Formats: sequence, C-alpha cells, structure tokens
Amino acid sequence: MIQQFLQAKQDCAGAILFFRLGDFYEMFFEDAVVASKELEITLTSRHKGEENKVPMCGFPHHSASSYISRLVGRGFKVAICEQVEDPKAAKGIVRREITRVITPGMLIDEENLDARSNNYLLALEREGDSYGLALLDISTGEFRATEITGAESLADEISRVAPREVLLPTGAEDWGAISSIEARAGKSSITYLDEEVFSLSASEKLLSEHFRSPAGEDAPAVLEDLPLARCAAGSALHYAHYTQKGETPHISAPEPYSVVDYMIIDETTRRNLEIFESIRERSRKGTLLGLLDRNVTPMGARKLFAWLQYPLLRVGPIRERLSAVEALKEQLTLRTEIHAALEEVYDLERLNSRVTLGTAGPRDLVALARSLEKVPEVRERIGRFEQAMLVQVARELDSVEEASTRVAEAISDDPPATLKDGGYIREGYNPELDDLRRTSREGKQWISRMEADERRKTGINSLKIRYNKVFGYYIEVTRTHLHLVPETYIRKQTLANAERYINESLKEMETKVLGAEERQADLEAALFQEVREAVARHSSRIQRTADALATLDVLATLGEVAHRHRYCRPEVTEALTLSIRDGRHPVVERMDLGERFVPNDSAMDGEENRLLIITGPNMAGKSTYMRQVALIVLMAQIGSFVPASEASIGLVDRIFTRVGAADDLAHGRSTFMVEMHETAHILNHATKRSLILLDEIGRGTSTFDGLSIAWAVSEHIGRKIRAKTLFATHYHELVDLATTLPGVKNYNIAVREWNDEIIFLRKIVAGGTSHSYGIQVARLAGLPDDVVDRAKEVLLNLEQGEMDGEGLPRLATSRRRRAERPAPAQLSLFGSPGDELQRALKGIDVETLTPIEALNKLYELKKKVS
Ligand code: ATP
Repeated sequence: MIQQFLQAKQDCAGAILFFRLGDFYEMFFEDAVVASKELEITLTSRHKGEENKVPMCGFPHHSASSYISRLVGRGFKVAICEQVEDPKAAKGIVRREITRVITPGMLIDEENLDARSNNYLLALEREGDSYGLALLDISTGEFRATEITGAESLADEISRVAPREVLLPTGAEDWGAISSIEARAGKSSITYLDEEVFSLSASEKLLSEHFRSPAGEDAPAVLEDLPLARCAAGSALHYAHYTQKGETPHISAPEPYSVVDYMIIDETTRRNLEIFESIRERSRKGTLLGLLDRNVTPMGARKLFAWLQYPLLRVGPIRERLSAVEALKEQLTLRTEIHAALEEVYDLERLNSRVTLGTAGPRDLVALARSLEKVPEVRERIGRFEQAMLVQVARELDSVEEASTRVAEAISDDPPATLKDGGYIREGYNPELDDLRRTSREGKQWISRMEADERRKTGINSLKIRYNKVFGYYIEVTRTHLHLVPETYIRKQTLANAERYINESLKEMETKVLGAEERQADLEAALFQEVREAVARHSSRIQRTADALATLDVLATLGEVAHRHRYCRPEVTEALTLSIRDGRHPVVERMDLGERFVPNDSAMDGEENRLLIITGPNMAGKSTYMRQVALIVLMAQIGSFVPASEASIGLVDRIFTRVGAADDLAHGRSTFMVEMHETAHILNHATKRSLILLDEIGRGTSTFDGLSIAWAVSEHIGRKIRAKTLFATHYHELVDLATTLPGVKNYNIAVREWNDEIIFLRKIVAGGTSHSYGIQVARLAGLPDDVVDRAKEVLLNLEQGEMDGEGLPRLATSRRRRAERPAPAQLSLFGSPGDELQRALKGIDVETLTPIEALNKLYELKKKVS
C-alpha cells in the first residue's frame, strides 16, 4: 500500500495526497507532517516503535471538504486518491487512482470560492519581450487570452486580474520579469510545468481537439495570429485536464482580447482610489465596488467586478451601456420586477460548471432548473425595451427547457445535498426504482409488525427489533427475560445486559430489504448521473444564458444605484475636456460625515485648463475632490451614471495617482523612494489623454528638495505630457507656476477664519492660497498649546524669508535669470540676514563699547552680510 501511495505521490508533484483508506483519508511521510500542523490534527505513525516508522495522519472522508478548503486557502495543492474498485471484489490491494487535484487556481466547489469574484488561473509564455497570457476561470468556464509587449504592461495586467495561481514553464525562473511576476502574483502561487506543455505544437493539438465540434469538424481557428497566446492557452487547458482528470467541456474557446482596448489603472491607483478594497480595512466596505454592487446574482456581481477591472475606451460601447442603464433607471416597475425575478436565479455559471465536471449534487440540479425556469419571465420583461444591449440580452436568453424539464421530472423537489443517502429521484420517474422502494418500505412495515407479533407471542414487552450497519436486523431481549426466548431464535451477539437474536423469517426479510436498498442506491445514482449528463449536453446554451443574465443584472443594478443616489447620465466624448457640475465623491457622500457633502464643479481641457494646482488647508477636502473627479471618470467609462448634476467626460486612457506616503520595506524602498518611483512611473507613461492626480510630491525629503522636485515635475507634465492633472499641495509656492506655465490654473478649497479658528467651506474656488492652516489643524488634532504657539513663531520667521530681494518668488527663478541677478543671500533657519543684523545692532550697548571692541564688532557684522 505504501508503494501504491508513493507511486500516486509521484503523479501529483507538489500536492498533498489525500489517500483513501476505507472510510478515511490518510496522509503519510512529509505530507502528514505538514498537514497535521496546518490542519491541527494528531500526527501518529505506522509501524510505531519500529525503525522505519512512517508518519501519518488522517480524518473521516466525509469531512474532507473543510480540510481541502483550509489547505487550498493557504496556498497548498491537494490531490485526492480514491479507491476505484469495490474493496470486497478486489484481489490483493484495492486499486486506487488520483481522481482530482485541487489547486488555488482550479477551484470549483462553492465553499472554496468567493461568489462575487472570479477565480483566475493565469498562464504565461514568453518570447523576447513579448508575452502570451491566458486567463481561465474553471468555475465558470471563462477563458480568454492575449499578447502583451513589455514587462511593465505584463505586470499591470497581472495585478489587474489578481490571479490565484500562475502557470509558468520551468525555464521562466530565468526570465527578467520573474521578480515582478512574483511580486504581483505572490511567489507561492506560481506553478512550474514542463516547457513542453507550453510548446506551440502541443498547445495547438490540445486546443483543436478540445474545441472540435461534436460532429467532429475542426473548430474555427483559435486565437489566430496570436501564437504566444495560443501557447499560454494550451498550457492552461492542459492543467485543467490534469487537475480534473478528464475533459472540461464547459470551458469555452479562448477569446482574444487586447489590453489596449481598456483603460489602464495600475496597482497603486487601484489602491488609492479604493475601487475594490479599502486601504485601511482591506475590505469591500467603503469602496466603489461596495457601493455599486447591489447585484442580486453572483454572476452579476462578478460581471460588475470585471467591468470595473476593464473600463472601456470606445465611445460607442460606453453609450450603449449608458442607454440601457438609463432605460432601466427610468422604468422603476420593470426594473424592480426584473430584479425580483433575478433574485430567484442561482449561480447558473458555477452550477453549470459543476454539472459538466460531474461534481454537481441533487440540490445543484434543482437550483439550476429553478434558475432556468425564471428565464421566460425575465425575457418577457426586457422584451419591452428597445435599447441595443437589452435587445441583445433578450436574444441570448434561452430557458433551455429540455434541461429544466428533465430535472423537474427526475429529481424530487427538496432533495438531500449529497448522493450518499439516496431519496433524490422523484417517485414515478422510474418504475424499477418505485418497485424497489415499495419492497423495502413494505419489508420495513412487515418488520415493525413482526416486533408487535413477537412481543405478543413471547410475552416480552420490552422486545425490540432494530438495525445496525454491522449486524443488520436483530431482535434484542434484556437479560431478565432471557428465559422467555423461543428456541427458534438464533443468538447473534451478547451485550452486558441483553442478547441479540435473529430468526429465519427476519433473516429472509432482511435479505429482501437490504438487497432492495442496495439496488435502489445504485439505481438512483445511475439515474442521477444520466440526468446530469443530459443537462451537461446543454452547457454552452446555459452558459450563454448565464452571461446574459449577468449583464442584465449589472445594467439593472447600475440603474438602481443611479436612481437611488440621484446620479446623472454622463456625456462621453472623444474630446480632451472634462466638465463636471456639482460633482460628488460617490463613497464619501454616503458616509456619516456629520456635515452635508458639498458638491463641486470641475472644468478641464487639453489647453488652458490642463494642470490645476489645488491648495488649501489640511482637511479642507483636496484629496476627496481629486478622487471624486477620477472616480466619476472611471464610472462613466464602465457605463455607469455618475454623482453629479451634469458631466461631460472626454475619454481617459489611464488614471494615475500619487498619494500619501508609505514605506515599501518589503521591497527595500523607503517612503521617499516609493514616492519618486511612483512619480517616475507617471512621467514615463502618461499621455495627453491621461488623468493624473498628484496628492503632494516630495514630502518625504527636505522641504527645498521636495519643492524643487514638485516644481520640475509640474513643468514636465505641463509642457511635455500635457495630461489633465490635479495637483493638491501644501507648497503654496507652486501657485506661482500659473504665472510661468501655460495651461496651469490655481484653485483652492475655501475656508473662513473666525477667532483663530477655521471653518471648512468645502467649496473649490479659483485662485491660489498662501495659507496651509496646518498649525490650526494640528491644534484641532490636540497638539499641546505651547507646541502650537512655538510653531506659529517659527512659521512667522520662515515666511519672512520667502521672497527674494526683488520681491519675486524665489522658486520661479531659472538658471538664466539667476545669472542676471545677484545671488540671494543664504536663508538662515530663523530669519533673513537683515533680521539678524538688526538683532545684532540692537544688542550693542554703544555707551560701554571700547574703540577696539567697536572695530571687532564692525568686522563681525560685515562678515554676516558678505
Ligand atoms: P490633507 O491636506 O490633510 O490631506 P485634504 O484637504 O486632502 O487634507 P480630505 O482628506 O480630502 O482633505 O478631506 C478631509 C475630510 O473632509 C474628509 O474625510 C471628509 O470627511 C470631509 N470632506 C471632504 N470633502 C468634503 C465635501 N465636499 N463635503 C463635505 N465634507 C467633505
């Protein structure tokens, strides 16, 4: 048996092997050591006490799923090795085979998956600087692939899809991009497969076999002109077959896509804008997704997630989505009815996958059929709309009656979850099964009648007829009544205070009942499999319907959210302008702020209003304002209404953000390095179609260094990139950029001063400000009074040194202008040289000064200004 184990272990490289032994799964050797620790189960050993003892641990087979979840959740792979012949019929050791390998990227069971997001396996192949990338979600059958040039674009795509597992060819350990792939996907989620699996010939063979039509004709060319993508797709499919140990017919032909068709939002921006996950709690609460996801089906939730991952870059498709959302927003009754019908639709996509992979249980089939039964109702409702997308959805909706009727006929209404105990095939579906059921039912009735008869005949009132798995049926008599037991009883078992018997007629009936039950279980299982296979034959129609229902759910949800929060339909254009009236931050406006959310306008274009410098006190709302602009753009480009009273959005190709400061010690980068790295990334990739949000630059270093960098970065963006940029800063010196750089406009967030207090007005107004009110805000935060007072003094000193001798802002000076002008005197920390001279002069007591002291003093003072 250990040999059999070791053989199986070789066939599932890297996975922990669950080895079936009777009613248990056991693990041996290293697997046992690791699993016992991870699963907190006792480690024992086989051949205990002997020299070559084998570490082992195990658990009852029915609790496997929770242990699988735990291991896979922690990044392990699990291989299930089952007994594939009846132990009673086996000669020698029972034959065992690996029936499934469960890995983080290859999950199909509901309990291991998040219903509201996809679970992707990502496969990669490379040639030079080009990458073939395939994405497969085996739980839904979604499969797509692309080719990408450059390690950076690759990294963006990996972080966008956040795969649970990445497949690489063995040679990839030497790829230049490997560290960036590991950083994005997590080192432990990488699985290396033999290079041969990724070869074009192997991939093409597999793909053409898999996607051949049932009639045997060759499938239309898969991923034409994308050979690297084909290699990646082939390897993903190979892995799917390997883990499922068989065919995976529900996987659709890989759809080609191109990253240039979608807005790019890099990892930093995704985090800063809190699109999917909040920065603090790392949860969905407080995110854009959390706000928008009011989908009633898991498929809809996943689709919305995907729309947010892939905002569109073409006006036509965005407008189509917007028109559908608008129609649904306005038709309150129809929308409510559609959502009510969708609420009764289960996760058709994942149910369909489990049906085709043969893991669906009776309840799954019923859920699938009930979902399909809702389709005509939904189709009837959206049949009343004329918008292109809704017409398309209606066309795709197929109630696949063959499948739902078959299930309704065969499976009982409220079946048990598993196949184990039978009872899921409907009465009247199969005459043989009905006969068997009748036989066992009548047999049991006969036995319970026999109990009464025997009590009467023997006079033993406490006589019982019972059943257990080991001994079958028996008659139990307590010790005190043993003298009344008739001779026809045959003793079977002795207990402490009772004896158990059998007699001829009970034996006969037992054979009949148990025989019928065994046959009944086999027959039910076979009938169930037949029904499941019949449903699986319609899998591609079911999948299409599921996709259409998902789209409808998202459109109705966006309509619902737009209605509920009073959003407007944005006009989406090819222009470079961005014009928003009464814009709001979709998430902040819904928070309990203790004040009303104040809407603000935005007006930007590719010319006069390109770079907006936003100043204003701490806490005034600068970050909120900038983020709201970015979120409104993003929402518009997924086809959602936006929180504003009017909006015209010129398409944006990328959104960049540089916000706040945080160490990235894990990657060996200090706060300032992170900042500069992000800034460099923006300067190297932004185009004039991009939207850049800069929330401070250069705060991680000395004031002058930081300010200089901020100034130079702004000039570069303003002159060379010409991207629409919002730059919030406390360097109010930057306000002077407007006088020297075209396209720069100053804005500030208004406040009122009142008795040394500040009142936030939250309104963005034109013009710069020369006040940060940092000290007032620090006092609000509870800094001690003497620290606040001293800070005010120091501030006064600093401010006096801000202008140069000609009254011009020092920072505006270029090298040329500086050469023309005398060099400014060195700024001392606590005031200008003039102040110091004055202080020194004031400090001299002329009356007591000797002539030589006077001369020395004069010499000293002269040195201060020379
Ligand atoms: P700092 O310079 O310190 O980073 P800030 O100017 O960026 O501050 P925000 O973080 O944007 O300020 O806003 C501070 C708080 O003000 C927000 O958490 C929110 O509660 C509130 N706020 C921001 N904008 C508005 C608004 N338009 N209406 C109402 N409250 C707002």
